[in-house]
Amino acid sequence: MAEKMRSMEVEVEEAREYFNNGNTKDMPWRRSQLKGLRRFVKEQEEAIFRAVNQDLGKHQVEAYRDEIGTVIKSLDIALSSLKSWISKKKAALPVVAFPSTAYLVPEPLGLVLVISSWNYPFGLALEPLIGALAAGNTVVLKPSELSPTCSSVLASILPNYIDKNAVKVIQGGADVAQKLLDIKWDKILFTGSPNVARTVMAAAAKHLTPVILELGGKCPAVIDNISCSVDRKVAVKRVLAAKFGACGGQACIAVDYILVEKKNAEKLVDLLKKCTKKMFGENPQDTNSMARIVNKQHFFRLKNLIDDPKVISTIVHGGSSDENSLFIEPTILLDPPLDSAIMTDEIFGPLLPIITLEKIEDSIRFINARPKPLAVYVFSNNSKLKKNIVSNTSSGSVAINDAMIQYVADTIPFGGVGGSGFGRYHGKFSFEAFSHEKGVLQRGFFGDIWFRFPPWNAHKLRL
Ligand code: NAD
Repeated sequence: MAEKMRSMEVEVEEAREYFNNGNTKDMPWRRSQLKGLRRFVKEQEEAIFRAVNQDLGKHQVEAYRDEIGTVIKSLDIALSSLKSWISKKKAALPVVAFPSTAYLVPEPLGLVLVISSWNYPFGLALEPLIGALAAGNTVVLKPSELSPTCSSVLASILPNYIDKNAVKVIQGGADVAQKLLDIKWDKILFTGSPNVARTVMAAAAKHLTPVILELGGKCPAVIDNISCSVDRKVAVKRVLAAKFGACGGQACIAVDYILVEKKNAEKLVDLLKKCTKKMFGENPQDTNSMARIVNKQHFFRLKNLIDDPKVISTIVHGGSSDENSLFIEPTILLDPPLDSAIMTDEIFGPLLPIITLEKIEDSIRFINARPKPLAVYVFSNNSKLKKNIVSNTSSGSVAINDAMIQYVADTIPFGGVGGSGFGRYHGKFSFEAFSHEKGVLQRGFFGDIWFRFPPWNAHKLRL
C-alpha cells in the first residue's frame, strides 16, 4: 500500500511539474490531446464495449450511444471550436478608463483532479478530460472501483493515445480517493453521491480549491393528460427509455418517479406496462436490452426499497429479481407511501413509482417540497403548465416532452443546483469550467486625469 501511495504521489508531482514547465499551453498540444482521445474511443471501441458489458451488462447499442457516440460528438465540437475558445475576447471599458483597451484571455488552471462514477464509466471520465485538456491543464483521473474492467481499460490503454506526462489515471476506491483529496489541486470535478461530495468539498476547502460537484437526486417526470393517443405513447416510450433503458435506471438524470393526475393513472399504468413488455419482452430476465445492477450491495439496496411491506403492495408491474445475475425486473409502483425510502432516496435502479395528484398543477408544489433535482421532465400539450413548471420549479435542467436528451446538447450546460450539485460542463462550458478567464487592461503612458493622484485636497473634492 505504501509503495502504491508513493508512486501515486510521484505521478501527481510529475503531472504538476509538466504543467508548471508550460508544456500544455500551446494550441497544437491541446489539439493533439483531443485527437488522441478521439483515436482512443474509435480504435478501442471493441475493448470499451467488452468492458462496459462486463461491468454493467450494457448492450452494445446503449454503450455506443452513451460511452462512444456522445464522447466523439463532444470531441468534434472541441476540436472545431478550440481556436475560438482560446482566443482572447475584446472587453468594453467605461469612460473613466479612457484611453485604454481591454480583453479577456482564458488561462489554464493547472493540475486538476477528476473523480468519476461507474454508471457511465467512459462518458463520465472522458467528458471532463475533454474540457480539462482543451483548456490546457494536466489531469489526474480517478475512475470508479465499481466498474473495474472499464477503469482498467482507462488506466492501461488510454495512456497510449495521449501525453502520459499530462494525464495520469489512478485506480482505486475510497481510500485512494481520500489520499488524492489530501493533495492541493487547482480544481476538482467530482461525479458521485451527495454524501461523498461533502467529504470532497471539505477536503477541497482546506486548500481553497474550487470544486464542481456533479451529483444526483430524484428527477420527476410530470405526465399531463395527453389526449392524442399517439403522443401519449411517445411520451411513455421516452420515459421508459430514460428509466429502464438508461443503464437500468442507474443514471443521474434518469426519470426517478412519475407525477400524474389521479384520474389518468389507470390509463398511464396500462400503457407503461404494455410498452415495458414491448421493450424488454415477456421474460425480461432474458433481455439484453437492460443493464444489470452494478453489484450486490446496490442489488440489495434496491431490493430493500421494494421489500418494504408498505411498498410491496403498491407494485403494479414486475417486482421479481435474481441475485445471481444481478437482475431486477423493470418494476412499476402506484402510490408508494411518500415517507418510504423509495420516495425519499434517489432510486438509481429499475423501479418506477407513480405518484397520483388531484391536479397536475400540484406537481409544482410536490417538486418544490423536495430537494432540487438534477432534471425535471414534463410531458404535456398545455403551454401554461410547461411554462409554469419551467418558471416555478428549480432544477439543473428541464426537458419538455422528452427526458435525458438534454445531456447531448453541448449548448446546454450540464450540472445541478442545490442538492443536485453545482458547477457545470459540456461543450464550451467544459472549457470554461477548467479555465480562468483573466481580464487584461492595457494603455500607454499618456492621458492621465490629474485628480486620480494624491495628495487629496478640497480642490479635488469639488470636482
Ligand atoms: P459515490 O459517491 O459512491 O462514488 C463516486 C466516486 O467517489 C468514485 O470514484 C468513488 O471511488 C469515490 N469515493 C467513494 N467514497 C469516497 C470517499 N469516502 N471519499 C472520496 N471518494 C470516494 O457515487 P457512485 O455510486 O459512483 O454514483 C452514484 C451517485 O452519483 C448517484 O447519486 C448519482 O446520481 C450520481 N451521479 C451523478 C452524475 C452527474 O453527472 N451528475 C453522474 C453519475 C452519477
